[in-house]
Amino acid sequence: MPVNKTTYNEITKRLSCASVSLVAVSKTKPVEDILELYQLGQKDFGENYVQELTAKYEQLPKDIRWHFIGHLQSNKIKYIAPFVHLIHGVDSEKLLAEINKQALKLGRQINCLLQIHIAQEETKFGLDETELQQVIASINQGKYPNVNVCGLMGMASFSSDNDLVRTEFKALKKLFVSQKPNNSIAFTTISMGMSADYETAIEEGSTMVRIGSLLFGSRN
Ligand SMILES: *Cc1c(COP(=O)(O)O)cnc(C)c1O
Repeated sequence: MPVNKTTYNEITKRLSCASVSLVAVSKTKPVEDILELYQLGQKDFGENYVQELTAKYEQLPKDIRWHFIGHLQSNKIKYIAPFVHLIHGVDSEKLLAEINKQALKLGRQINCLLQIHIAQEETKFGLDETELQQVIASINQGKYPNVNVCGLMGMASFSSDNDLVRTEFKALKKLFVSQKPNNSIAFTTISMGMSADYETAIEEGSTMVRIGSLLFGSRN
């Protein structure tokens, strides 16, 4: 299936007016498809698998900002640490500590979002409110100087119940407002909303949406 340029133009217009940024989720899609959107001006792309991300990074223009949106294993951080723009799914303090360690080695700061478990489903990853408070306390103590915690990320239930999805996004927004780190100048980002629910996410205060299938077609 070809890249849907008309939809891309519609979505970017809409997001631009709402000051929401777009991560085009290109997992499983070929580099040719990524280049098509890149040529229309898209610079932020999201991937879920470390090996796929590093392979695409090698092949594609170096001004692409790569977002890692999958579940990251500690032993794989080193492969993406040199170039990744933003890691969305930080769901444990242990992972945050490991990212800090790799960033320190490279002498860089790595941007991260803390993933919050907002869905009803058990299968989704993320911190609960208590765990979030603990991680923020550690950040406030200055434990992770090479990690730049930019905000929160969440995935709503995979459900056609729009009220449920809205309630989950509201909960994420509320945590974002109430649980900022002390020095929260950089704490600006709420990554929520995918192809099926991005409009609701924007209404509930998302600042960054992650959209795949609407742009690239459905995945196998
Ligand atoms: C795959 C994925 C997306 C994009 O999903 P679509 O429904 O194709 O828009 C967004 N966020 C995460 C975390 C994903 O894994």
